[in-house]
Order: sequence, then C-alpha cells, then structure tokens
Amino acid sequence: MKGPNFSDYEALYKGYDWQKEKSNLSGLPGGKGLNIAYEAVDRHADGDLKNTTALRFIRKSGEHVDYTYAGLKAETGKFANVLKKLKVKEGDRVFSLLGRVPPLYIASLGSLKYKAVFCPLFSVFGPEPVFQRLSKGDVRILITTTDAYEKKVKGLLGRLPSLQYVLLTDTDRDLDEFALSYPKLMEEASEEFSIPTTDPEDPALLHFTSGTTGMPKGALHVHQAVVIHYSTGKYVLDFKKGDIFWCTADPGWVTGTSYGIISPLVNGVTSIVDEEEFDGMRWYSILEKEKVNIWYTAPTAIRRLMRMTIVPKESFDLSHLRLVLSVGEPLHAGAVIWGEKAFGVPVLDNWWQTETGGIMISNYRSMKVKPGSMGRPLPGVHAAIADIGENHFKVLDQPGKEGHLVLKKGIPSLFREYIHQEERYQKSFHGDWYITGDLARIDSDGYFWFVGRADDIIKTSGHMVGPFEVESTLMKHPAVAEAAVIGKPEPSIGELVKAFVVLKEGYQAEKDLERELIGFARKTMGPAVAPKELSFIDSLPKTKSGKILRRLLKARELGLPEGDLSTLEKN
Ligand code: ATP
Ligand code: MG
Repeated sequence: MKGPNFSDYEALYKGYDWQKEKSNLSGLPGGKGLNIAYEAVDRHADGDLKNTTALRFIRKSGEHVDYTYAGLKAETGKFANVLKKLKVKEGDRVFSLLGRVPPLYIASLGSLKYKAVFCPLFSVFGPEPVFQRLSKGDVRILITTTDAYEKKVKGLLGRLPSLQYVLLTDTDRDLDEFALSYPKLMEEASEEFSIPTTDPEDPALLHFTSGTTGMPKGALHVHQAVVIHYSTGKYVLDFKKGDIFWCTADPGWVTGTSYGIISPLVNGVTSIVDEEEFDGMRWYSILEKEKVNIWYTAPTAIRRLMRMTIVPKESFDLSHLRLVLSVGEPLHAGAVIWGEKAFGVPVLDNWWQTETGGIMISNYRSMKVKPGSMGRPLPGVHAAIADIGENHFKVLDQPGKEGHLVLKKGIPSLFREYIHQEERYQKSFHGDWYITGDLARIDSDGYFWFVGRADDIIKTSGHMVGPFEVESTLMKHPAVAEAAVIGKPEPSIGELVKAFVVLKEGYQAEKDLERELIGFARKTMGPAVAPKELSFIDSLPKTKSGKILRRLLKARELGLPEGDLSTLEKN
C-alpha cells in the first residue's frame, strides 16, 4: 500500500502557504483566473486523464453509467451553452431538485463553467421547503423531473417571480414555453464552451445549512473555494492517482457537493455515485465490487452499520479500502474503534460546516488517531478556542479550556454571505475571527474535541454540559444504540439533563433498564452531569442529512412550537 500524502503534520502546518497551494492548480488558460469547473473537469479532459472515468453512477437497479473526464467536459460544455441560449446572466442562480443522477452533476459543473451560481436541493423536499429555498435564493433556472415539477413546483409559480425556466430531465418535449425539455436542449447544444474570465472571488455555489438549530441559512461560496477542495482531497482524503472514491452524501448538503462532486474531480480520481438511499448490505457490496479505496460517510450511517450483526471485512473483500472518513456530527470513540476493527482501516473523523465549504479540522492518515477527537486543523487553517461574552472576546491559549470554536479569516472556502441576512453574517465575525457556533476544547497535543453546539449547551447546577459528552457515555452501555440529550428548565438547578435513548434490538424499554442506565451514567460521569431523567424512544428525530434534531425533542418535551421542520427526515 502506498504511504500517506504527507508524513509530518507539524512540518507541513508550519511551512504552509495558500498561495503555494494555489499554484498546484492550473488556473484558466491565458491567466483568466480560477474556475472550479475548469480545475475539476477541463484541465483533466485536456490532459492525461482524458479517458479516465470521472464519475460512475450506480442506478437504483444496480446498472452503471460512466462518464470519462472528456465525456464530462463535453456534457458540461453543452449545459453551459444551454444557459447561454436561455440568456442566463453570470451570477444568476441555477437550482436543481434531482436525485443523484447524471443531470445534477452535469448541471452543477456546467453552471460553474458559465459562472452561474449553482444551488442543489435535496430531492425529497416537499413543496414548502422547496419554495422557501427557491424564493430566498432568487432562482432563475430550475432543473428537475416532470413529476417533481407537477407535484412540488407548479403550484408555487405565482410566488416565484424570478423563476424564468424549468428544465425537465425526463421528457423529450417542451411542456410549454416555460417548462422545457432538458434532453432536447442538450442535444441541440454545442460541446464547445470557453470558460469566461473568472475572478477567484466570483460567486459559485449556494448551500443551505441543515437546519439543525433553526431556520436553514443560505451560505454563498466563491470560486477560490477550489483551493480547499484540492488541498483537503490531498491531505485528508489522501487521494492518489487511480483511486476510487465514494462519498455517500447527497449534493443537497454541502458534503455531497464539495466531496461528492468537486474535490475528487479536482484531484483527478474516480468518484462513485449511488442513486439509492442507505442500505447496509448494498453499501458493503458496492465497497467490494467497485474496489473503493476511500470512503467518506457520516456518523448516522456508521451507527446504523454498527447495529447490524455482520463484520464487513469478514463477509466482503475490502482489501482495496485504505481509509474511512466521517463528518456531520460527532463520531464517538466507540464508533471509531468499531470501524477500525470492522473495516480493518483507520476511521477518520473530521469537522466542518456549510459555512466553511470544506474540511477544516481532521484526523489524518499519517497522524495518531485519538478516538473521539475531531483531529487537528487543516494546514493553512488557524483554529482556536475563544471565550466570548456580551462585551468581550478573548482567545484562550491554555489547553483544556472549553469555549467557542473560532477560525481565522482568510480561508479560501469560507462563505462570503448569508443571503438576505447581512446582519446575521456580520454577527458571525469578531475582528479577524469567524465564530462557528460550536464549542470545543484543545488538548495539550493540539487535538480538538467537540463539546457541543453553543445553542445546545445545558447549564445545570453551575455546570456547562455538552450533550455529546453525555450521549457518548450512554452509548458505551451495551443496550444503547443511540442517544440524544437536552436541557429541561428546572428552577432549582437551571436546567435538568434529560436523555432520550434508542435501545438495541433484544432490549426492553423497562423501568429497571432506565434506572440502570442513569446509574451507569452517574458512575461514569458523576451525578452533576449525568441525566436525571431518561426516556426510551423508538427513533430519534433527525435531519434528512442524518443529524439529531435536539431542538425538536426539546420543543416536544416542553410543549413548545416545533419550529422549522423543512429538513426533518420522516420515518
Ligand atoms: P444549522 O446551521 O442550520 O443549524 P447545521 O449546523 O447542522 O445546521 P451543517 O452546516 O450541515 O448545518 O452542519 C455543520 C455542523 O455539524 C457543525 O457546526 C457541527 O455542529 C456539526 N458537525 C459537523 N461535523 C462534526 C464533527 N466531526 N464532530 C462534531 N460535530 C460536527
Ligand atoms: Mg450550523
């Protein structure tokens, strides 16, 4: 097995320079700037990787559809010409409402070539969440299926004045002058498209946050984010020539775009796209059949796999697998240890957000993994812990102190705007620092540990308790499959720690077990921090991207309004 792409983290971090990294990218010919789609597609299509598979789609049926880099250049060139024909202007917003099928990938990269701003929506959103986002994002063009158009969009047309055309991916006929056939437009379009001059600061992508803490925000990203797509591919995902990579996230979430589309292409590897939703056995067989080298998934999926009795490396040939990575929620130590045994390779947690556009803190192949830690900052990223109050902001130098996780400005992929929320955007910064909204601590070796979201922190009897800490403890008990913890107002102590627990198969939700679990937590964590109340629940409410919606558990517990549920996964 080839060694990691770097061996000495400290040395790499110390001598790191964004400008030097940028020089590893090609830039548009003739010095015409930096464009994500050029770096991802055209430069490879015009070079040695011309006939290499860029994207391999696995249909629900299991059938494959492959695109080489040259093929992808042609298709994305056609899409850019379609936008030209429809008189779309640079900076206009192109939205997709599609499953993980080729037109989504072609439209995203084609829009980036054209310098339209692309915004992918998760295909299972209902009409209201679709409306909220199209309207907030000032949609100009929407690409979707006839069925989704009829069921989810048609009724909204009177409320979407900026929407000019809908492109339908599954019909050869235009419905009318407004709803046009995508295959027909593509057939008539030329493959030749010359990417216009692209300033690194030109807007490129719009992503809505997951809505875990409230109403989703629209974060706008620029073309130079590609420097991070490239560098994280090299340092974190450890991409090497010839690699097969699979990111299970949907492009409706930032991970599915930054790493499900852009980063592997920028790094010239082959990316697998599975149209189907989570299915443990199907996933294991894809890892085996496609000889996947690097696999990027999420804690919710890992927890589901942990519940299956099968040990993947014993039942499947996973000899090609080199790394498993996870993002989206805290990955508790038990999952890291289970994963290493089950897959026979390191499981690397990493931290980032919609706002950061790419991985910011990570475990690396060449660095010792401390299970339960998010790892260390990406080279070039200055992350710190700050004490933030009404009137003060202080970066804490001492290891071990908990506080707000902050990032120094100047990161190429950091968002440039919360659309239509300027005040909120401004409030996310203090001087040179971006305030992430998460709490963390740094240990004496420089590793970052997630404490919780600032909004979720529980104040109980003078202690600050992060739900993650309590949840991780409960999950060490053999009966617990998943847990979520909230603070419940209780006048004498401020808030009371309340846990919701999903049991593993074979365990009964009984009073004795409830007492046992509370006792287990008290013994492990101490009575001040352990839950005082514990309820069993069949499943936890989660976002469609798999994150636990603690605010919904809390609202239900307290009988308060449930708030925005546009990203709630219906199960
Ligand atoms: P919203 O901002 O709308 O409430 P969200 O924050 O869940 O939604 P995302 O940008 O998709 O939307 O998620 C980023 C957040 O997910 C991080 O701020 C952090 O709270 C959590 N997260 C991501 N990766 C990790 C990780 N490795 N460990 C702990 N938390 C993580
Ligand atoms: Mg957030």
